[in-house]
Amino acid sequence: MAAPSYPMKFEPKNRLLAQLSSADLLNLRPYLKRAPLMKDKILFAADEPITRVYFIETGIVSLAAAFRNGSSSEMATIGREGVVDVSALLGASTTLGQCQVQAHGSAWALETSRFQSALRDIPALRQTCQAYAQAFVGQALQTAACNSVHPLKKRCVRWLLMSHDRSDSNTFAIKQECLAEMLGVCRSTITVTAGALQQAGLIRYSRGVITVLDRPGLEAAACECYGAIREHFERLLPDTFERPPVPGQQRPPERMPARGLRPDPAARAWLALGARRSA
Ligand SMILES: [Zn+2]
Repeated sequence: MAAPSYPMKFEPKNRLLAQLSSADLLNLRPYLKRAPLMKDKILFAADEPITRVYFIETGIVSLAAAFRNGSSSEMATIGREGVVDVSALLGASTTLGQCQVQAHGSAWALETSRFQSALRDIPALRQTCQAYAQAFVGQALQTAACNSVHPLKKRCVRWLLMSHDRSDSNTFAIKQECLAEMLGVCRSTITVTAGALQQAGLIRYSRGVITVLDRPGLEAAACECYGAIREHFERLLPDTFERPPVPGQQRPPERMPARGLRPDPAARAWLALGARRSA
């Protein structure tokens, strides 16, 4: 049987693959399979064998620690800057936690055995993946500390910013139940928090869809953990969250008109109070 042929031009959106030379990419291309990431799909349950890794192209996957009572708490967010499951980078054969799709998208899937040999054979892939592993561990450590110290509203804003960084637009879908589970709180608490962020004019949250209205305002309202995590990535993998211009499209604006929503000074003051307390 003739070997399958592939277009000579291969330009993955995944930032780890995008670091590779054209020659390295073309050598890897026959083993990369398109994998749709359906919302809520569990890519790996905890302690499951890692049979393949996913280089995220679009969409968001979360790594969560699972508890015996069925609840879970998010430890890391993975988008096109990374690969799932990062444990494979460290030579592990099973996952540490549960990897679940939070925002639908697509990925390039690669069998783990091929991935391991690619790490050996392609120095640039090994180098960039090691840098990613460091940034990922930094994210997980900071998230664990954040979850134990900072108030919910700050953690919620951090999550929104991290998801916005990994999204191609200012809008992404997330159910309140999912957000509550990731942040380890009950749904009613998320309802109150999201309502306050909306009153402050920072987001719009309607029917499970969040629209970022005021990115600078969100950054000002976040705890220091968002900046710390982003610094890890910028230091180890420069320009990770730069949004490349899409032909025919404008870059999403940093601030969108609120369209009928007037920022409530009291809500902003409530957020600012939380910032001082968490400092
Ligand atoms: Zn924090």
